[in-house]
Amino acid sequence: MTLRHEAPLREADPVVARLVDRELARQRHGLELIASENFASRAVIDAAGTPLTNKYAEGYPGRRYYGGCEIVDEIEQLAIDRAKQLFGAEHANVQPHSGAQANFAAFMAVLRPGEPLLGMSLPHGGHLSHGASVNHSGVIWRATHYGVNPATGRIDYDAVRDQARRELPWLIVAGGSAYSRIIDFAAFRAIADEVGASLLIDMAHFAGLVAGGVHPSPVPHAHVVTTTTHKTLRGPRAGLILCGTDLAKAVDKSVFPGTQGGPLEHIIAAKAVAFGEALTDDFRRYARQVVANAKALAEALAERGFDIVSGGTDTHLMLVDLRSRQLTGKVAEQILGRAGITVNKNTIPDDPQSPFVTSGIRLGTPALTTRGMGTEAMRRIAGLIDRALTDADDAVLARIRHEVEELAAAFPLYQGVPRRRRR
Ligand SMILES: *Cc1c(COP(=O)(O)O)cnc(C)c1O
Repeated sequence: MTLRHEAPLREADPVVARLVDRELARQRHGLELIASENFASRAVIDAAGTPLTNKYAEGYPGRRYYGGCEIVDEIEQLAIDRAKQLFGAEHANVQPHSGAQANFAAFMAVLRPGEPLLGMSLPHGGHLSHGASVNHSGVIWRATHYGVNPATGRIDYDAVRDQARRELPWLIVAGGSAYSRIIDFAAFRAIADEVGASLLIDMAHFAGLVAGGVHPSPVPHAHVVTTTTHKTLRGPRAGLILCGTDLAKAVDKSVFPGTQGGPLEHIIAAKAVAFGEALTDDFRRYARQVVANAKALAEALAERGFDIVSGGTDTHLMLVDLRSRQLTGKVAEQILGRAGITVNKNTIPDDPQSPFVTSGIRLGTPALTTRGMGTEAMRRIAGLIDRALTDADDAVLARIRHEVEELAAAFPLYQGVPRRRRR
């Protein structure tokens, strides 16, 4: 095999190109309801796929360990300025490679190893990186966890306060991956202040809703805010940390040299593009529609007899308790997958099943809303989900799959991205 350095991917490596094509086709022809996923714009994807990937830029704009950083300095500064403007933050670090990396660096900025932290429990909707025992965060720090009230599906702030008084954590972490209600940031701050803890809000899931003005902002309440940039925020797969000027130095040092080497300047360029998009009125309209769609989907499912944890949603996601349907999350995920509807199994509060089986599925509307779908499509999708989970017969699922493909075709995705030419 000869190395063709100047050839485009489809000529240089048809094997990889074909796999990329197949994944693009999967995204185009199915219905994506995974709550943590979205479709980044063509511009974001273009920026991510640039020769900026070649540049080493350890350090920060104006303070680098390498030469030739003049241009990436401008790019990173633009991403920082836009992030600060978007969220009204005093300081932004745009270098974390992912949400988990952002959390690790932020925790290390405010805690020493062995110190106590209090986070939301993973099986109640929290995140692995908030001190779960299988994550290094649960090894490095002494983590305890609060959950939701199983009767209401909501955080019980009095219970969190009691627990904080007992455990005396040095850091309290709020935010999760499967919590569909608006979190009372002021209540968390009052609890943190009472016990002398720092407060970190991880807005990985709802950052796009905050940016779009349809969800309260944690920035005025938290000492540190972390997020991913690829969920509701619809940017490239990466992370972001926001804080006040008081913690700026500690956070920056903790990201680099503390936890990472060279920043991914191509991804930072894509973040700058995404933050620019999120500053537009179009994005505000998008965020409003994401929430309206989630409410419509939750209502339509409830009308069809599905139990929605906490009775509904304030955000882009919902958790469906399948116990009344005599189904596990694992089986439901498989059935819906055969119909072309992508969801993930998810534990419900106090789930009797293991995390590999679960009693629930998590559904979210960010990706379908990006395709232009509205509340009418959501009601149709609720019907498709209901039919598939009522009668998982091959013929029934084939018919549903056909309807899924019709619906997807009515809301085309990445039309400008050329398919590899067949020979
Ligand atoms: C998704 C998520 C993360 C982790 O993001 P990665 O980019 O997958 O590392 C962290 N915290 C919360 C609350 C999340 O939902």
